[in-house]
Amino acid sequence: MEKSQNQKIEMVFPNGIELYIKREDLLHPIISGNKFRKLKYNLEEAKKLGFKKILTFGGAFSNHIVAVAGAGVAFGFETIGVIRGEELIDKVQENPSLAFAQQNGMRFHFVDRTTYRDKSDKKFVESLHDLYGDFYLIPEGGTNQLAIKGCEEILTAKDKSTFDFVCCAMGTGGTISGIINSANATQEIIGFSSLKGGFLSDVIRNFVQKENWNINCEYNFGGYGKVSDELIRFLNIFHQQTNISLDPIYTGKMMFGILDLIQKDYFPAHSKILAIHTGGLQGISGMNDLLRKKNKETIQYND
Ligand SMILES: *Cc1c(COP(=O)(O)O)cnc(C)c1O
Repeated sequence: MEKSQNQKIEMVFPNGIELYIKREDLLHPIISGNKFRKLKYNLEEAKKLGFKKILTFGGAFSNHIVAVAGAGVAFGFETIGVIRGEELIDKVQENPSLAFAQQNGMRFHFVDRTTYRDKSDKKFVESLHDLYGDFYLIPEGGTNQLAIKGCEEILTAKDKSTFDFVCCAMGTGGTISGIINSANATQEIIGFSSLKGGFLSDVIRNFVQKENWNINCEYNFGGYGKVSDELIRFLNIFHQQTNISLDPIYTGKMMFGILDLIQKDYFPAHSKILAIHTGGLQGISGMNDLLRKKNKETIQYND
Protein backbone atom coordinates (compact mmCIF):
# COMPACT_ATOMS: atom_id res chain seq x y z
CA MET A 1 0.00 0.00 0.00
CA GLU A 2 1.41 3.39 -1.02
CA LYS A 3 2.32 5.80 1.74
CA SER A 4 3.21 9.47 1.64
CA GLN A 5 5.15 11.50 4.18
CA ASN A 6 3.67 13.90 6.68
CA GLN A 7 5.59 17.16 6.80
CA LYS A 8 5.35 19.56 9.70
CA ILE A 9 4.42 23.13 8.80
CA GLU A 10 7.05 25.14 10.62
CA MET A 11 5.07 28.21 11.54
CA VAL A 12 4.30 29.65 14.93
CA PHE A 13 0.69 28.87 15.78
CA PRO A 14 -1.22 30.00 18.88
CA ASN A 15 -2.15 27.64 21.74
CA GLY A 16 0.36 24.92 20.93
CA ILE A 17 -1.48 23.90 17.76
CA GLU A 18 0.50 21.73 15.36
CA LEU A 19 -0.15 21.44 11.64
CA TYR A 20 1.15 18.72 9.33
CA ILE A 21 0.63 18.23 5.63
CA LYS A 22 0.42 14.81 4.01
CA ARG A 23 2.38 14.97 0.77
CA GLU A 24 0.08 12.97 -1.47
CA ASP A 25 1.17 15.35 -4.22
CA LEU A 26 4.47 13.44 -4.35
CA LEU A 27 2.90 9.97 -4.82
CA HIS A 28 3.32 9.92 -8.58
CA PRO A 29 4.82 12.43 -11.03
CA ILE A 30 1.72 12.59 -13.24
CA ILE A 31 -1.12 10.75 -11.53
CA SER A 32 -0.85 13.00 -8.52
CA GLY A 33 -2.43 12.98 -5.12
CA ASN A 34 -5.97 11.83 -4.69
CA LYS A 35 -6.37 11.01 -8.38
CA PHE A 36 -3.85 8.21 -7.92
CA ARG A 37 -5.89 6.87 -4.99
CA LYS A 38 -9.13 7.16 -6.91
CA LEU A 39 -7.82 5.44 -10.03
CA LYS A 40 -5.92 2.58 -8.42
CA TYR A 41 -8.74 0.07 -7.90
CA ASN A 42 -10.62 1.26 -10.98
CA LEU A 43 -7.61 0.43 -13.15
CA GLU A 44 -7.27 -2.97 -11.49
CA GLU A 45 -10.95 -3.63 -12.13
CA ALA A 46 -10.73 -2.49 -15.77
CA LYS A 47 -7.72 -4.81 -16.31
CA LYS A 48 -9.46 -7.70 -14.61
CA LEU A 49 -12.56 -7.29 -16.76
CA GLY A 50 -10.41 -7.19 -19.89
CA PHE A 51 -11.08 -3.60 -20.97
CA LYS A 52 -8.59 -1.95 -23.31
CA LYS A 53 -10.10 1.53 -23.21
CA ILE A 54 -11.02 3.92 -20.45
CA LEU A 55 -13.46 6.75 -21.01
CA THR A 56 -13.98 9.58 -18.57
CA PHE A 57 -15.21 13.16 -18.27
CA GLY A 58 -13.73 16.51 -17.30
CA GLY A 59 -13.41 20.24 -17.78
CA ALA A 60 -10.69 22.29 -19.44
CA PHE A 61 -8.11 22.20 -16.64
CA SER A 62 -9.17 18.93 -15.03
CA ASN A 63 -6.56 17.18 -12.87
CA HIS A 64 -8.59 14.02 -13.36
CA ILE A 65 -8.31 14.15 -17.17
CA VAL A 66 -4.54 14.57 -16.89
CA ALA A 67 -4.31 11.73 -14.38
CA VAL A 68 -6.35 9.35 -16.55
CA ALA A 69 -4.23 10.19 -19.62
CA GLY A 70 -1.08 9.50 -17.59
CA ALA A 71 -2.54 6.31 -16.17
CA GLY A 72 -3.36 5.14 -19.68
CA VAL A 73 0.31 5.34 -20.61
CA ALA A 74 1.53 3.85 -17.34
CA PHE A 75 -0.94 0.94 -17.24
CA GLY A 76 -1.54 0.26 -20.93
CA PHE A 77 -5.03 1.57 -21.66
CA GLU A 78 -6.31 3.68 -24.52
CA THR A 79 -8.00 6.75 -23.06
CA ILE A 80 -10.91 8.89 -24.22
CA GLY A 81 -11.78 12.17 -22.53
CA VAL A 82 -15.26 13.66 -22.90
CA ILE A 83 -14.50 17.34 -22.45
CA ARG A 84 -16.88 20.08 -21.37
CA GLY A 85 -16.94 22.94 -23.87
CA GLU A 86 -17.09 22.62 -27.66
CA GLU A 87 -15.13 25.86 -28.07
CA LEU A 88 -12.02 24.07 -26.80
CA ILE A 89 -11.82 21.89 -29.88
CA ASP A 90 -9.26 24.13 -31.63
CA LYS A 91 -7.64 25.41 -28.43
CA VAL A 92 -6.00 22.23 -27.19
CA GLN A 93 -2.47 23.51 -27.72
CA GLU A 94 -3.19 26.67 -25.73
CA ASN A 95 -4.39 24.61 -22.79
CA PRO A 96 -1.51 22.96 -20.92
CA SER A 97 -3.70 20.27 -19.31
CA LEU A 98 -5.41 19.20 -22.52
CA ALA A 99 -2.17 19.44 -24.49
CA PHE A 100 -0.50 17.16 -21.98
CA ALA A 101 -3.36 14.66 -22.07
CA GLN A 102 -3.26 14.60 -25.86
CA GLN A 103 0.50 14.07 -25.89
CA ASN A 104 -0.17 11.07 -23.67
CA GLY A 105 -2.49 9.61 -26.24
CA MET A 106 -5.87 10.69 -24.94
CA ARG A 107 -8.54 11.13 -27.60
CA PHE A 108 -11.00 13.96 -26.97
CA HIS A 109 -14.72 14.11 -27.46
CA PHE A 110 -15.85 17.72 -27.00
CA VAL A 111 -19.44 18.39 -26.00
CA ASP A 112 -21.49 21.49 -25.24
CA ARG A 113 -22.41 22.34 -21.67
CA THR A 114 -25.96 20.98 -21.86
CA THR A 115 -24.80 17.61 -23.17
CA TYR A 116 -22.09 17.58 -20.53
CA ARG A 117 -24.56 18.24 -17.74
CA ASP A 118 -26.63 15.24 -18.90
CA LYS A 119 -23.61 13.01 -19.44
CA SER A 120 -25.03 10.13 -17.38
CA ASP A 121 -27.97 9.98 -19.76
CA LYS A 122 -28.25 6.45 -21.13
CA LYS A 123 -28.68 7.54 -24.74
CA PHE A 124 -25.60 9.72 -24.56
CA VAL A 125 -23.47 6.91 -23.12
CA GLU A 126 -24.83 4.58 -25.82
CA SER A 127 -23.82 7.09 -28.49
CA LEU A 128 -20.31 7.07 -27.01
CA HIS A 129 -20.26 3.27 -27.27
CA ASP A 130 -21.32 3.52 -30.92
CA LEU A 131 -18.33 5.77 -31.54
CA TYR A 132 -15.66 4.18 -29.35
CA GLY A 133 -16.77 0.60 -28.81
CA ASP A 134 -16.21 -1.10 -25.49
CA PHE A 135 -14.82 1.00 -22.66
CA TYR A 136 -14.56 1.11 -18.88
CA LEU A 137 -16.36 4.23 -17.76
CA ILE A 138 -14.98 6.32 -14.93
CA PRO A 139 -17.27 9.14 -13.80
CA GLU A 140 -16.33 12.82 -13.62
CA GLY A 141 -13.67 13.46 -11.01
CA GLY A 142 -13.24 9.68 -10.76
CA THR A 143 -15.66 9.28 -7.87
CA ASN A 144 -17.23 5.85 -7.46
CA GLN A 145 -17.14 3.04 -4.91
CA LEU A 146 -13.73 1.77 -6.01
CA ALA A 147 -12.31 5.31 -5.87
CA ILE A 148 -13.47 5.63 -2.30
CA LYS A 149 -11.89 2.29 -1.45
CA GLY A 150 -8.60 3.73 -2.75
CA CYS A 151 -9.01 6.89 -0.68
CA GLU A 152 -9.50 4.77 2.44
CA GLU A 153 -5.76 4.07 2.13
CA ILE A 154 -4.70 7.72 2.51
CA LEU A 155 -4.58 7.71 6.33
CA THR A 156 -2.10 5.35 7.97
CA ALA A 157 -2.74 3.63 11.30
CA LYS A 158 -0.43 6.14 12.93
CA ASP A 159 -2.33 9.09 11.41
CA LYS A 160 -5.52 7.71 12.90
CA SER A 161 -4.07 7.68 16.41
CA THR A 162 -2.07 10.93 16.12
CA PHE A 163 -4.31 13.61 14.67
CA ASP A 164 -7.39 15.28 16.14
CA PHE A 165 -8.42 16.89 12.85
CA VAL A 166 -8.00 15.82 9.24
CA CYS A 167 -8.61 18.48 6.58
CA CYS A 168 -9.19 17.82 2.91
CA ALA A 169 -10.17 19.86 -0.15
CA MET A 170 -13.39 18.82 -1.86
CA GLY A 171 -14.64 18.70 -5.42
CA THR A 172 -17.01 15.77 -5.86
CA GLY A 173 -16.56 14.60 -2.26
CA GLY A 174 -15.10 11.19 -3.09
CA THR A 175 -11.75 11.69 -1.44
CA ILE A 176 -13.15 12.90 1.85
CA SER A 177 -15.65 10.03 1.87
CA GLY A 178 -12.77 7.55 1.85
CA ILE A 179 -10.98 9.49 4.58
CA ILE A 180 -14.09 9.56 6.76
CA ASN A 181 -14.63 5.82 6.29
CA SER A 182 -11.12 5.01 7.40
CA ALA A 183 -10.71 7.63 10.16
CA ASN A 184 -11.12 7.01 13.86
CA ALA A 185 -14.45 7.97 15.39
CA THR A 186 -12.56 10.38 17.67
CA GLN A 187 -11.16 12.38 14.76
CA GLU A 188 -12.99 15.28 13.17
CA ILE A 189 -12.79 15.43 9.38
CA ILE A 190 -13.24 18.86 7.78
CA GLY A 191 -13.90 19.23 4.06
CA PHE A 192 -13.08 22.53 2.43
CA SER A 193 -15.38 22.92 -0.53
CA SER A 194 -13.88 24.39 -3.68
CA LEU A 195 -17.35 24.94 -5.09
CA LYS A 196 -20.47 26.82 -4.14
CA GLY A 197 -23.48 24.99 -2.84
CA GLY A 198 -24.23 22.46 -0.14
CA PHE A 199 -25.08 19.44 -2.26
CA LEU A 200 -21.80 17.75 -1.30
CA SER A 201 -23.20 16.57 2.03
CA ASP A 202 -25.63 14.34 0.16
CA VAL A 203 -22.82 12.85 -1.93
CA ILE A 204 -20.89 12.01 1.22
CA ARG A 205 -23.94 10.47 2.88
CA ASN A 206 -24.19 8.11 -0.10
CA PHE A 207 -20.79 6.68 0.76
CA VAL A 208 -20.37 7.01 4.53
CA GLN A 209 -22.30 6.13 7.65
CA LYS A 210 -20.37 8.22 10.17
CA GLU A 211 -21.14 11.66 11.57
CA ASN A 212 -17.71 12.96 12.62
CA TRP A 213 -17.30 15.30 9.66
CA ASN A 214 -18.38 18.71 8.46
CA ILE A 215 -18.08 20.78 5.32
CA ASN A 216 -16.77 24.31 5.34
CA CYS A 217 -17.94 26.43 2.39
CA GLU A 218 -16.44 29.72 3.64
CA TYR A 219 -13.28 29.45 1.58
CA ASN A 220 -14.47 28.68 -1.95
CA PHE A 221 -13.42 32.18 -3.15
CA GLY A 222 -16.51 32.62 -5.29
CA GLY A 223 -16.75 29.07 -6.62
CA TYR A 224 -15.00 26.41 -8.62
CA GLY A 225 -11.94 27.69 -10.48
CA LYS A 226 -12.38 31.22 -9.08
CA VAL A 227 -9.40 32.91 -7.46
CA SER A 228 -8.73 36.30 -5.86
CA ASP A 229 -5.62 38.44 -5.57
CA GLU A 230 -5.60 37.58 -1.88
CA LEU A 231 -5.56 33.84 -2.58
CA ILE A 232 -2.71 34.12 -5.11
CA ARG A 233 -0.69 36.24 -2.68
CA PHE A 234 -1.34 33.65 0.03
CA LEU A 235 -0.11 30.79 -2.22
CA ASN A 236 3.11 32.68 -2.90
CA ILE A 237 3.76 33.59 0.73
CA PHE A 238 3.06 30.01 1.81
CA HIS A 239 5.42 28.74 -0.87
CA GLN A 240 8.14 31.18 0.26
CA GLN A 241 7.78 30.14 3.88
CA THR A 242 7.49 26.37 3.46
CA ASN A 243 8.79 25.58 -0.03
CA ILE A 244 5.52 23.67 -0.55
CA SER A 245 3.50 24.46 -3.67
CA LEU A 246 -0.27 24.50 -3.39
CA ASP A 247 -2.74 24.59 -6.27
CA PRO A 248 -5.21 27.48 -6.62
CA ILE A 249 -8.34 25.35 -7.13
CA TYR A 250 -8.27 22.98 -4.17
CA THR A 251 -5.34 22.73 -1.76
CA GLY A 252 -4.64 26.48 -1.69
CA LYS A 253 -8.20 27.25 -0.62
CA MET A 254 -8.06 24.51 2.00
CA MET A 255 -4.79 25.77 3.48
CA PHE A 256 -6.03 29.37 3.47
CA GLY A 257 -9.07 28.13 5.38
CA ILE A 258 -7.09 26.10 7.90
CA LEU A 259 -4.75 28.98 8.75
CA ASP A 260 -7.70 31.35 9.02
CA LEU A 261 -9.59 28.96 11.32
CA ILE A 262 -6.48 28.58 13.49
CA GLN A 263 -6.32 32.37 13.85
CA LYS A 264 -10.03 32.42 14.70
CA ASP A 265 -9.54 29.82 17.48
CA TYR A 266 -11.70 27.19 15.79
CA PHE A 267 -9.32 24.47 16.95
CA PRO A 268 -8.89 23.73 20.68
CA ALA A 269 -5.47 24.31 22.25
CA HIS A 270 -2.84 21.65 21.40
CA SER A 271 -4.87 20.26 18.50
CA LYS A 272 -2.90 18.21 16.03
CA ILE A 273 -4.14 18.89 12.52
CA LEU A 274 -3.37 16.91 9.38
CA ALA A 275 -4.01 18.62 6.04
CA ILE A 276 -4.06 16.37 2.97
CA HIS A 277 -2.11 17.71 0.00
CA THR A 278 -4.24 16.16 -2.72
CA GLY A 279 -1.94 17.36 -5.53
CA GLY A 280 -3.30 19.26 -8.51
CA LEU A 281 -0.14 21.20 -9.24
CA GLN A 282 -0.42 20.50 -12.98
CA GLY A 283 -3.25 23.05 -13.10
CA ILE A 284 -1.03 25.95 -12.04
CA SER A 285 0.45 26.66 -15.43
CA GLY A 286 -3.00 27.03 -17.03
CA MET A 287 -4.07 29.32 -14.20
CA ASN A 288 -0.90 31.37 -14.61
CA ASP A 289 -1.71 31.87 -18.31
CA LEU A 290 -5.08 33.32 -17.29
CA LEU A 291 -3.50 35.51 -14.58
CA ARG A 292 -0.87 36.80 -16.99
CA LYS A 293 -3.57 37.80 -19.49
CA LYS A 294 -5.16 39.90 -16.74
CA ASN A 295 -1.81 41.40 -15.72
CA LYS A 296 -2.09 39.79 -12.30
CA GLU A 297 0.50 38.32 -9.97
CA THR A 298 1.22 34.70 -11.00
CA ILE A 299 1.75 31.63 -8.83
CA GLN A 300 5.30 30.67 -7.92
CA TYR A 301 5.76 26.92 -7.68
CA ASN A 302 8.24 24.05 -7.75
CA ASP A 303 8.08 22.25 -11.06
C1 LIG B 1 -9.88 16.37 -7.78
C2 LIG B 1 -9.19 17.05 -6.65
C3 LIG B 1 -9.81 17.24 -5.40
C4 LIG B 1 -11.24 16.88 -5.15
O1 LIG B 1 -11.41 15.53 -4.91
P1 LIG B 1 -12.88 14.95 -4.79
O2 LIG B 1 -12.68 13.52 -4.52
O3 LIG B 1 -13.53 15.17 -6.13
O4 LIG B 1 -13.59 15.68 -3.72
C5 LIG B 1 -9.08 17.82 -4.39
N1 LIG B 1 -7.81 18.24 -4.59
C6 LIG B 1 -7.20 18.10 -5.78
C7 LIG B 1 -5.83 18.61 -5.93
C8 LIG B 1 -7.86 17.51 -6.84
O5 LIG B 1 -7.24 17.38 -8.02
